[in-house]
Amino acid sequence: MATQAPIQPQKVNLRRPDVMEAVQAQVVEHYRSNLVNHIRANGGRISIPGKLTVKLAKEFGFCYGVERAIDLAYAARKVFPDPTRIFLLGEIIHNPEVNDQIREMGIVSISPKPCDQELADLHLSDKDVVLIPAFGTEVGTRRKLEALGCQLVDTTCGDVMSVWKRVRQYSKEDVTSIIHGKAKHEETKATTSQATAYGTGHYLVVYNLAETDYVCDYIVRGGNQQEFLAKFAGAHSPGFDPDLHLKAVGVANQTTMLRGETEEVQRRIRAAMEKKHGPDRVSHHFRFFDTICGATQDRQDALEQLLGEPLDLLLVVGGYNSSNTSHLAEMGEAKLPTYFIKNARKMESEHLIRHYNLHRQEEVESRDWLPNGEVTIGITAGASCPNNLIEDTIRRLFEFRGLLADDVVRT
Ligand code: SF4
Repeated sequence: MATQAPIQPQKVNLRRPDVMEAVQAQVVEHYRSNLVNHIRANGGRISIPGKLTVKLAKEFGFCYGVERAIDLAYAARKVFPDPTRIFLLGEIIHNPEVNDQIREMGIVSISPKPCDQELADLHLSDKDVVLIPAFGTEVGTRRKLEALGCQLVDTTCGDVMSVWKRVRQYSKEDVTSIIHGKAKHEETKATTSQATAYGTGHYLVVYNLAETDYVCDYIVRGGNQQEFLAKFAGAHSPGFDPDLHLKAVGVANQTTMLRGETEEVQRRIRAAMEKKHGPDRVSHHFRFFDTICGATQDRQDALEQLLGEPLDLLLVVGGYNSSNTSHLAEMGEAKLPTYFIKNARKMESEHLIRHYNLHRQEEVESRDWLPNGEVTIGITAGASCPNNLIEDTIRRLFEFRGLLADDVVRT
């Protein structure tokens, strides 16, 4: 019987100059803000003395990885017009407005990790295009799509891929990857899949310092294996055994974590290894590679600087499921009243704002959030938030004071 040749995944080059030129014009039209550009060019501050001052963080909004992902999604539509079907694994980035815009272009969002039934129902074939989002996808999902012959448009950010490289290296050296991140986040799932896909590697995801301390304690003193596995259910590799797989570990992180926390995670794990094996042997048992991306770092540094200035409150604009935006909101919360909103409409009035509560993980209402009289408001936004949403936020604040931002810009 003749054997069927395996289907070769198709490589698609969308970054042709003619395509990219048209696409970038379209992207700028959808997401740019002249008002934000003007404020940035004038020191990041807009003010009506005695009434309202808005200060923008020096760095906020779209990062290079997000810009690239959006460009590629737009380019895919241009190169493969209707009726070619274009699917997207989950969301292109974590911003509802941007995802709506992508949907309006006829790009259909499917599960981030479609099961065999979903793939069968879609009848995917080599005629279909599938977009991989900026945070990547799991190795298993990619392999399935390749086996179906789909034309893949991979928008995975290069900074995410450098974490993958590190994790694969750890696996090759029989070093367990400890990932500081959110086990359910698409990026972390994609990263952990790299640890197990090419051999016998293992991983463990720790979310915070409390979990890190638990792991450190186990490294130093041992503990109850079943309790350990139950505590980290869904956050470790299949077959993970804390008695075997915590002997040599390498720390990496989801690209969008808080830098200070990531540094502390690696410091504590390193100290535990030193205690267990002695300072001379630590290099055999511990590795670390800082994989916080430059864009996340820049936005956190800029917010730190803004928080050093006198402010009455902070608005953080972005998608509620955006990891880097959540961390900006956490930083703000530690210092002053902070409202994490996904768009300007969430500021319903001067007396009512609906905003995301990170601890309850739901949207909540706050009343009388905007102080009377002269007020200074800081604004920042995550790497997936377009400038037009910042503009809407600034305009709404001015409206609450009975003013138009344009009038201020003109004076
Ligand atoms: S936040 Fe960082 S890792 Fe994520 S897309 Fe932007 S640059 Fe890439």
